[in-house]
Amino acid sequence: MLTRRRFTIGAAALAGSLGLGSRFGASAASDALTTLSDGHLEMPTDFVLRGISAEVLQEIGVDRGALGTTLASPCILTLHRSGDRLVLFDAGAGTNFMPSAGKLPESLDAAGIDPAAVTDVIFTHAHPDHIWGVLDDFDEVPFANAAFHVCQTEWDYWRSDAALSEMPEDRQVFVIGARSRFDAIEERSTLFKPGTEVISGIEAVAAFGHTPGHCAFVLHGADAPVMVVGDAIINDPISFARPDLAWAADQDPETAARTRTALLDRLASEKLRFVGFHLPNGGLGRVETAGAGFRFVPESA
Ligand SMILES: [Zn+2]
Repeated sequence: MLTRRRFTIGAAALAGSLGLGSRFGASAASDALTTLSDGHLEMPTDFVLRGISAEVLQEIGVDRGALGTTLASPCILTLHRSGDRLVLFDAGAGTNFMPSAGKLPESLDAAGIDPAAVTDVIFTHAHPDHIWGVLDDFDEVPFANAAFHVCQTEWDYWRSDAALSEMPEDRQVFVIGARSRFDAIEERSTLFKPGTEVISGIEAVAAFGHTPGHCAFVLHGADAPVMVVGDAIINDPISFARPDLAWAADQDPETAARTRTALLDRLASEKLRFVGFHLPNGGLGRVETAGAGFRFVPESA
C-alpha cells in the first residue's frame, strides 16, 4: 500500500545557510540525502491512541471512527552520503518482526546500493523496527563493512537487568531482540554521548523518552542541515498539534512529551529540514507553528 519514496537532494540544489554547524565539521559539496522505505508497521489503533481522548482527537480534526482497527505507520530510513562515508540511520526491522516491514534490502537494491558499501550505521534507538535489521535470515550482519554507533545510554539500558524486569511481558521480546543485535555488532560498535559528533559532521542530540537513550541527529551539510528525529515525533497530525500528549509507544511518556515539544520548537524556529521515521508523505519536511501547536509540512505530499 505504500509506494517507495526516495529523495536525493544534491547540496547544490539547497539554498540558504542556517548558520549552524560552526562547532561541527561541514560536509563536502557531494553531500546527498536519500530516504529509503523499510515498509510499514501495522499497529492496533486502540494501542496507538491509548489515553488520547475522543475530544482531543476531535479538536485536532481526527475522526477516530474513520481510522479502523489498525493503523499503518510508514518506516523511513535516512541514508546520507558525505565524502567517502555512506551513513545509514537505523537498520530497519529485518524479517522477523512484522511481515509488512523489513523491506530495506529491496529498497537498497532498487536504489542501486550494496549494503556492503554502507560505512556507518547510526542508531536512534534499539526498538525492533530500528535495529532487528542488523541480522538477516542467516543471523549474519548484512552491512559487512559498516561501523555501528549506539548511544551509551541506550546500550546500557537494554543490557540492564531493569530493562527486562520493568518491561511489560508482551514487550519483553524487545529486550531479548535488542540484546542479541547488540551482541552481533558489539565488536564493531562505538558508543557515543549526546552533544558530541558521532562521525564528522553528524551531531548527536539527546531526545530521550521514547526509549531511555533515544537520540536525534543533526547532519551538518554544506548549506542546509537536516535533523533525523527517529521516533521522537511519531504521528501526524496529533504529535504536531499536541506535542504534550502522552503516547503508549513511548517508554517514558512525560520525558518523551518534553523532548517532542523542544524538538518541534527548534525545528520550527530554525526552519530546519528533518526526517521522521514514521511520518507520512516520505517523512521529510519542515515544521511550522499552527495555533498553539505545530504542523508538518512534507516536501512531498
Ligand atoms: Zn519506530
